[in-house]
Amino acid sequence: MAIQTKYIFVTGGVTSSLGKGIIAASLAKLLQAQGYRTTIQKLDPYINVDPGTLNPYEHGECYVTDDGAETDLDLGHYERFLNVTTSQANNVTTGRIYQSVIDKERRGEFLGKTVQVIPHITDEIKHRIQILGNSGDYDIVITEIGGTVGDIESLPYIEAVRQLKWDLGEENALVIHLTLIPFLSAAGELKTKPTQHSVKTLMESGVQADILVCRTEHELHDGLKSKLARFCNVKKEAVIESIDVATIYDVPNLMLSEGLDKVVLNDLGLASKTPDLTKWNQFIERHKNPKNEVTIGLIGKYVELQDSYKSILESFIHAGAENEVKVNVEPIHSEYLTQSNVEFKLSHLDGVLVAPGFGERGIEGKIEAVQFVREQNIPFFGICLGMQMAVIEYARNVLQLEDANSTEMDSDCQNPVIDLMESQKSVTDKGGTMRLGAWDCQIEQNSLAYDIYGETQISERHRHRYELNDTYTKQLEAHGLRASGFNPETDLAEIIELPEHNWFIGVQYHPEYKSTVAQPHPLFVAFVAAALKYKTNK
Ligand code: GLN
Repeated sequence: MAIQTKYIFVTGGVTSSLGKGIIAASLAKLLQAQGYRTTIQKLDPYINVDPGTLNPYEHGECYVTDDGAETDLDLGHYERFLNVTTSQANNVTTGRIYQSVIDKERRGEFLGKTVQVIPHITDEIKHRIQILGNSGDYDIVITEIGGTVGDIESLPYIEAVRQLKWDLGEENALVIHLTLIPFLSAAGELKTKPTQHSVKTLMESGVQADILVCRTEHELHDGLKSKLARFCNVKKEAVIESIDVATIYDVPNLMLSEGLDKVVLNDLGLASKTPDLTKWNQFIERHKNPKNEVTIGLIGKYVELQDSYKSILESFIHAGAENEVKVNVEPIHSEYLTQSNVEFKLSHLDGVLVAPGFGERGIEGKIEAVQFVREQNIPFFGICLGMQMAVIEYARNVLQLEDANSTEMDSDCQNPVIDLMESQKSVTDKGGTMRLGAWDCQIEQNSLAYDIYGETQISERHRHRYELNDTYTKQLEAHGLRASGFNPETDLAEIIELPEHNWFIGVQYHPEYKSTVAQPHPLFVAFVAAALKYKTNK
């Protein structure tokens, strides 16, 4: 029997970066493992319509869904934990909310009324929160509110939560407040005051937190939990400790041992049972007990930031566990990679991944890297821009087209082996206009790609504007570079490989967006296996 959809809101206090996304994903995992159809949504208070136009330095990786939404990287965690796809409805920004309200106003839909934050903006937020619940696909919707309580830009969201708690009724909605309990080493004590203040700030907006999840570096003793409960108006069992752990994949078990799922289900009037985490725990077991290790170079221009290549790093964790191999990812900055240092920087590696990216900075270093690993027979994996760089390198050094380039980097180049599709040439807007989301790819048999996927029809997610220029495909193939996967409607090349090489593959799409704990991506699994084989035979 279908149950009334229940809503859980996750807010954050004291400081940003407490990991609301991981807590939301971990709770969702526990609820899913008890048979509840659960999804997670992220509301972002910034004014960009989506994070697609944001520099990775600002906001980390931009995650892409099947339906082509450019979204917050937390959606990646949701998919990786739950193995359920997300969509545009799972990520909403203030920019998008205002855009739709203003569009309605222009169409005259407000019938002459003054359009205001309350009720028009808050109604739009409430509507967006309930889209997933009203779809009938979910029993529980977890909505994570970006930012920190008290931020001016979060206010309309908190107000929408206040209203929804009333509209939906006690048993159908609850608020989890994620907070920090700092340890003052001079005093040798954990401090609850910042949490008391942030719960109070939330109350000033009329929202009472039902559950506190407390990030901490040290165990919260019983007395401290009682104190938090007393000052913050929550039941003692609703004070949940979230102590630092070795990997984000430990958090569901941590929340289970703290009883977060039980408190949540009890508050929502739902039955709880022991979640079935058998597969999840098998993954953790393999992840924590590797039999071997490999070192893979990740060549990009944002390597100093963990979040910029989030999905790639997580994909390596999944693929490593699958192979029972520890994958050490060595970040290598492409901007500082030159012909004279490439051997020194890359020769010890068991595999090299050239990362996606935009713009000219660091691309010559990426091309040097491809040439080195191609000539040295080191396993190579190129993703999106990484695949494009592999084509340019081959055109320059094997086809002897010295000025081969992408028109993204040199619009006048004589040999544009990577070029814009005709349909992209008239595009002037930057946001939401790339080749985005899921596209089919037909894989040719007797290819490395076919060996890896074991099937001919696949679908993968894209986020790019430039393509392998078809006028060069024959010439490239005549010299040994093979295009082994094509989009059936457009004939665009999606996969390239070098049959003569140990293991060399480039893909125009982003396999990292589809790797999950339950289904590690076959390309990453095969790449790690190839790296191990290379290392063993060295
Ligand atoms: N900049 C390239 C393009 O737009 C590659 C994009 C990417 O790596 N995601 O085609």
